[in-house]
Amino acid sequence: MEKMQQIVGRARAAFRSGRSRPLEFRIQQLKALQRMVQEKEKEILAAIKADLNKCGYNAYSHEILGVLGELALTMEKLPSWAAPQPVKKNLLTMRDEAYINYEPLGVVLVIGAWNYPFVLVMQPLIGAIAAGNAVVVKPSEVSENTARLVAELLPQYLDKELYPVVTGGVPETTELLTQRFDHILYTGNTAVGKIVMAAAAKHLTPVTLELGGKSPCYIDKDCDLAVACRRITWGKYMNCGQTCIAPDYILCDPSIQSRVVENIKATLKEFYGEDVKSSPDYERIVNQRHFKRILGLLEGQKIALGGETDEASRFIAPTILTDVSPESKVMEEEIFGPVLPIVTVKSVEEAIEFINGREKPLALYVFSNNKQLIKRVISETSSGGVTGNDVIMHYFLSTLPFGGVGHSGMGAYHGKHSFETFSHRRACLIKDLKMESTNKVRYPPSSQKKVDWAKFFLLKRFNKARIGLFVLALLGVVAAVMIKVVN
Ligand code: NAD
Repeated sequence: MEKMQQIVGRARAAFRSGRSRPLEFRIQQLKALQRMVQEKEKEILAAIKADLNKCGYNAYSHEILGVLGELALTMEKLPSWAAPQPVKKNLLTMRDEAYINYEPLGVVLVIGAWNYPFVLVMQPLIGAIAAGNAVVVKPSEVSENTARLVAELLPQYLDKELYPVVTGGVPETTELLTQRFDHILYTGNTAVGKIVMAAAAKHLTPVTLELGGKSPCYIDKDCDLAVACRRITWGKYMNCGQTCIAPDYILCDPSIQSRVVENIKATLKEFYGEDVKSSPDYERIVNQRHFKRILGLLEGQKIALGGETDEASRFIAPTILTDVSPESKVMEEEIFGPVLPIVTVKSVEEAIEFINGREKPLALYVFSNNKQLIKRVISETSSGGVTGNDVIMHYFLSTLPFGGVGHSGMGAYHGKHSFETFSHRRACLIKDLKMESTNKVRYPPSSQKKVDWAKFFLLKRFNKARIGLFVLALLGVVAAVMIKVVN
């Protein structure tokens, strides 16, 4: 208990010193982080390889590129994001200064998940530093090599007191969560998300929960199946299916089911060759527990493709299940592995009903030549994010907020959205001490006339385009004079 208290206490004292606030300091820390990623690239790639058996090229594209991109964007845009944002004023505040000021929240806790062990702690960290906070970083113990490396590297490059790293598993995280934070961003499963939120509630700490769920993928009959299946194959089997926004299952008309299987089969050959097991591009299941869990999902299913496994190396071949019953186990929980069930539906209405009958997913995918149909699916369902005619890609556009809804999470981050997530939007109004007479309308004693004037000030809508700003200003002055006369 003591130890966590000390770590968080030191971070809080460092935050209170005020040194994390100046923009120059934030940018300097982000630059140091950029240097860390560039100088320690080999070590980072090796740790990811040891944790997930991921080859260097894939680890670089999945985990390093995104971090460098986020750093470059944040360093460039931070001055404009952090600048006070003036807001529109009304007749009562026309002479005053009104703006939103983005201020840091304080000490933020970032808890990462094992499946993309580097980017999932680094990306929130970038946003939290940019917003001027102190940050306690807790990488996932399941990807132990990356966790150890993050703990070793961050203090070499960043302010040690402001940005400490805590390693460990459930006991350490449980202890950490008894401490008071000003915001918690948690990435991981929904069950633990509830534990995090309950712990945060004790201190009234706001949370961003980046959770998972079953992300559906609907394929319309009117669609280029070869292209659709190539994109789906890429998103489903990357990282061996252990991606929070991987398409979890396919919904399609029974008449195209076998063609979907054929197209995915052909793409798998194109991507991984004849022997997937020896492809450097195909990863492994992270541990025995997850390996056994995924095998359990195959029981009693019709395997149209794949199904080969090797327990010693935790290999599971890219697998497709056909004619899957919506009631089966594989359709109850998030798969998080290289198993793709196909559930047949007779129409887009049935697909929409199927999706809406379940928890709101983190992502939703729909493939069709018909844009109207894509828009219809978007407007009649809900999910954290959507990509039409592709998978995963909304994640990579940092102008889009990344996050879930309902059981797939709350809050969002990436790019400017990260900065906003880790900032308090402070409402600032600075009035001048002149024109006191205009305020009489709100002071006692009350009267019908005062109510009428208050109504005029607050309820009257002017069409600015029609009357022009000058006239509006004039109206304000006239109103001020009139009030003086009335009183
Ligand atoms: P995990 O096992 O690494 O757990 C995540 C974190 O929670 C770890 O840091 C761990 O120490 C901590 N934790 C675990 N049990 C805890 C407990 N009882 N109390 C306190 N802390 C605890 O990761 P996971 O949960 O297996 O991750 C997979 C899930 O995460 C999937 O559902 C996936 O969809 C989701 N996910 C979501 C995103 C996203 O961005 N939305 C990204 C990756 C993964």
